[in-house]
Amino acid sequence: MPVELLGKSAEELREYAAALGERPFRAAQLYHAMYAERRFEFAAMTNLPAALRERLASAEGGRITPPRIVRRFPSADGSIRYLFSIGGENEKRAQIEAVFMPREGRQTICISTQAGCAVDCHFCLTAQLGLIRNLTAGEIVGQVLVALEENREQLAPQTNVVLMGQGEPLLNYDATMSAVRILLDPKGVALAPRHVTLSTSGIVPGIERLGKEKIRPSLAISLNASSDEQRNALMPINRKYPLDVLLESCRKYPLRPREYFTFEYVLLGGVNDTPEDARRVVRLVANIRAKVNLIPWNPGNLPYRAPTAESIEEFQTILVEKGVPTFVRYSRGQDVFAACGQLALMETPSPFVALQE
Ligand code: SF4
Repeated sequence: MPVELLGKSAEELREYAAALGERPFRAAQLYHAMYAERRFEFAAMTNLPAALRERLASAEGGRITPPRIVRRFPSADGSIRYLFSIGGENEKRAQIEAVFMPREGRQTICISTQAGCAVDCHFCLTAQLGLIRNLTAGEIVGQVLVALEENREQLAPQTNVVLMGQGEPLLNYDATMSAVRILLDPKGVALAPRHVTLSTSGIVPGIERLGKEKIRPSLAISLNASSDEQRNALMPINRKYPLDVLLESCRKYPLRPREYFTFEYVLLGGVNDTPEDARRVVRLVANIRAKVNLIPWNPGNLPYRAPTAESIEEFQTILVEKGVPTFVRYSRGQDVFAACGQLALMETPSPFVALQE
């Protein structure tokens, strides 16, 4: 039975190579071919001798199973939402999504860490799926590799990865961190730690565990409310980890020089976007090295409305005047349901490219 290799660390590949009777440098070559060169077929790994390529491709060898593209949903703004199929022989089949967003000088890839999500944030369409299953490390890192390979003709020099698609990354901690280590490994995908951001709804034990990691991504906290009462209503996880507990874990987090938190705040018109909310947010993030990203609500099949341009500006001004770096982030890919909180396997009437199943 072939062994799945995608997602394996350098150490795990060394063990695999040793079991085949191969020397450790062959494992390093395989690691380089998969993660640095994005080769998914053994036959294309020209850095390996032909005999080894054949052996790897044989029944007792290995296999590399990247997420399979089911559909592409290109947005008018240039971003592309991918609907992927994962699973098969050993893992339950599921569909997940990732979004590729090109910009001047860089591309940002938003990936999923779970199929569906159990956290149940009320403004999030993914929550309506419930948790289908955790992704493996290979399924997580595979989304980045496939999106890069798909767009290889137009890649900019810098790649950012945000773990903000379907799922709560800190509730699939081990697989997520195995994938992140490959993304950040200079011999792997070779991304800079400040260019990989893990976004959490506020799973405090996961934040504490992440703080102890030697190699870790930047951390973003989905705040979205200025009081416990408001946050309980929007994000039931707040009942388990209320604001004072969550923010205390941020204050204790061992930020490195030049590292900072990002607090994400989805502005819901008439719900959490008043000047009083802004003043409370200033007090909440006091003494935390952080910036705030304001994300105006994207219309979806949920009972919220977008904030007005005036309320967005006033909210931002209050934070900035109190010394909190604050940016307004307009989500991309809204026409193809690729925006924040919209990843829920939505079929859209927009033009898309359907691939062979
Ligand atoms: S916002 Fe994130 S954590 Fe909350 S339900 Fe959606 S996917 Fe899960």
